[in-house]
Amino acid sequence: MDRRAVDVVVAGAGFAGLAAAHRLVEAGLRVALVEARDRVGGRALSRVLPDGTHLDLGGQWVGPTQYEMQKLIAQYGTESYPTPEFGQAVIDYEGEHVGEMPSEARRLCAELDRLSREISANAPWEHPQARLWDGQTLASWLAGATDDPVAARAAARQTAGALLSLDAADASLLETLFYLASAGGLDVLVGYEGGAQSHRLVGGPQALAERMADALPARTVHLGEPVRRIEHGGGKVVVHSDGLRLEATAAIVAVPAVLVGRIDYEPPLPAVRDGCTQRMAAGYAIKTHAVYREPFWRDRGLSGVSFSSCGVLTETVDNTPPTGPSAVLTGFAYGADALRLRALDARARREVVVARLAELFGDQARDVQEFVEFDWLAEPWTRGCFSGHLAPGGWTGFGRALREPVGPLHWAGTETATRWNGYFDGAVQSGRRAADEVVESLR
Ligand SMILES: Cc1cc2nc3c(=O)[nH]c(=O)nc-3n(C[C@H](O)[C@H](O)[C@H](O)COP(=O)(O)OP(=O)(O)OC[C@H]3O[C@@H](n4cnc5c(N)ncnc54)[C@H](O)[C@@H]3O)c2cc1C
Repeated sequence: MDRRAVDVVVAGAGFAGLAAAHRLVEAGLRVALVEARDRVGGRALSRVLPDGTHLDLGGQWVGPTQYEMQKLIAQYGTESYPTPEFGQAVIDYEGEHVGEMPSEARRLCAELDRLSREISANAPWEHPQARLWDGQTLASWLAGATDDPVAARAAARQTAGALLSLDAADASLLETLFYLASAGGLDVLVGYEGGAQSHRLVGGPQALAERMADALPARTVHLGEPVRRIEHGGGKVVVHSDGLRLEATAAIVAVPAVLVGRIDYEPPLPAVRDGCTQRMAAGYAIKTHAVYREPFWRDRGLSGVSFSSCGVLTETVDNTPPTGPSAVLTGFAYGADALRLRALDARARREVVVARLAELFGDQARDVQEFVEFDWLAEPWTRGCFSGHLAPGGWTGFGRALREPVGPLHWAGTETATRWNGYFDGAVQSGRRAADEVVESLR
């Protein structure tokens, strides 16, 4: 057992933990950044195919209003490139390819967007309707807002699905509105140019995370050390991982919010903070990459972007890197669709996804060179995808405790962010905010 004393221990070396560690080091503090995996980056993970084609198996995009990420990109000299959009998107509405989503589905999305502008992302529980909205699911709200069930389903897939990676029956209306509010609205969330899907990073976000880790002082980052227990009494914290016993004045817990409750705390967390961990439910998405020799869809005037009101893939996108050499169509299945896919064996899953791509983009989609997927639900140090969400009743009952420090314990991670919650940008914001709290408390 390696024993060390530092000023602050940060648990989890995703973008939140890395950003926190940097802020603390800048403030002159001695930091230990303790990571369960044998790599940094968390939900940022790259894979390079034998032919050199780069795939991002986790998060990939950054947008122009994700200011924290933009700062890091500039600071580390990371190059980015725009998401290719060489043609028309396919909108599949109940099996028919239409120019745009029908008006009723658009009206429902616009109404959600309008309501989200009433929400404070800092304190969603303060809205006069908060209890009502937190006590109903997005599905029940949609059922009351329209008598067109197909439009309701399309709006659900566009919002709860594509954004929260939940089914509308699992997302509270308040959580949905909070999520829209934290990013600045639906247009920016679903948008490509100017929106959240605007750019990708050369080398992927994992390479940026690695650069951040390399820039920390030697012996700051400890890989392969899952934090198991945190003692936080008597004006100090003692953090135990498998091979480390770290004494410090404060700790920042920057692990995925759905895993916060799996660490032992002594004394136990206050009831309301623990209630918060109990109500944090993981979203679930499957992201698949179908690799082709050529981006054949472009020859047909298609961008590779699709949105479907039905079928196993809610969305697809052209993920071909600008330097190739292969072309990539990436698909996303959400919530129950993703769980249904997951229940299949790998071969059947590939067949189902490729058959759907063929329906969307033509028979050439069957000519797949390689099919790559990654199951974030199966990852013990993530357990979900894209992020965690407070279940119905969670915000109004327990939300105030989400960021509230517990003595010397501070909370980071994208799920605690008030801007771009669920995104890299939110993770960075949360890490910096938690580090500022610690610096302030040590003054
Ligand atoms: C498939 C997918 C697609 C996505 N697409 C995008 C996108 O395009 N753009 C975008 O902005 N965001 C996207 N996201 C979300 C983005 O990846 C996350 O918001 C962000 O990476 C979260 O960072 P974090 O530091 O909060 O958490 P994480 O990245 O999860 O980091 C937490 C770290 O804690 C570690 N850990 C867990 N338990 C312990 C423990 N007990 N002790 C020590 N360490 C522990 C984990 O190993 C991990 O490294 C996507 C996510 C997924 C999965």
